[in-house]
Amino acid sequence: MRERIIAGNWKMNKTVPEALELIETIKYELSRDDYKIVVCPPFTALYSVGGAVSGTPIALGAQNVFWEDRGAFTGEISPVMLADLGVEFVIVGHSERRRYFGETDEMINRKVRAVLAHKMRPILCVGETLEQREAGKTIDVVTHQLREALKGVSESEAKRLVIAYEPVWAIGTGRTATPLQAQAAHAFIREELNLMFGKEVGDQIPILYGGSVKPDNVADLTGMPDVDGALVGGASLKAESFIGIIENAQ
Ligand code: PEP
Repeated sequence: MRERIIAGNWKMNKTVPEALELIETIKYELSRDDYKIVVCPPFTALYSVGGAVSGTPIALGAQNVFWEDRGAFTGEISPVMLADLGVEFVIVGHSERRRYFGETDEMINRKVRAVLAHKMRPILCVGETLEQREAGKTIDVVTHQLREALKGVSESEAKRLVIAYEPVWAIGTGRTATPLQAQAAHAFIREELNLMFGKEVGDQIPILYGGSVKPDNVADLTGMPDVDGALVGGASLKAESFIGIIENAQ
């Protein structure tokens, strides 16, 4: 059976005390174990949140990484540093990083490979803008993003991949893809993964949906055959809504 995952992307939110307050409530209220739960605090709270989740089933994730191990790269954080903190998952290629920080497919590919080389698991985000969807380019855009980001990834490394389909028009907008729109994109991504890594590996890679997931829409989305969980932004910032999503997921 394919792994199921719900990951919370806290983005640029939460001081250390706020992060600890949130994780303590999530920890206390977490009641199911068929989903792997991942929390991705900002870099400044990784150490403290890592301590709080140690020995629990909750995994620690980071929101970004640089691809070099060390050196004169002011302001960057390396995969070595993340692995040292017990980080298991790293979000790579989020649309906010592509859009506001100019991340290209080539940079994203380097990050994916660096994360894999350090035995962590990338959560690779792909997805089209509204303009691209309306122009009928969703499949072309997502294919291109996947192929470029996953260049040079071996079949055995691919077993550690997680993909997040995040239509840009649904992120932070309150607009969600319908379950059928999500399923169509996920099924197509699955076909691409099967082409790249073979069916045996491709079929086991979890594909999460991201874009305004809430407690009241998560069941329909995760009820679709190729939707293996969710990457949650805004609704992961409050314990009540994040727990609601976990409880209602199919
Ligand atoms: C995200 O940023 O990955 C995301 C899905 O955000 P939101 O849930 O707020 O749309």
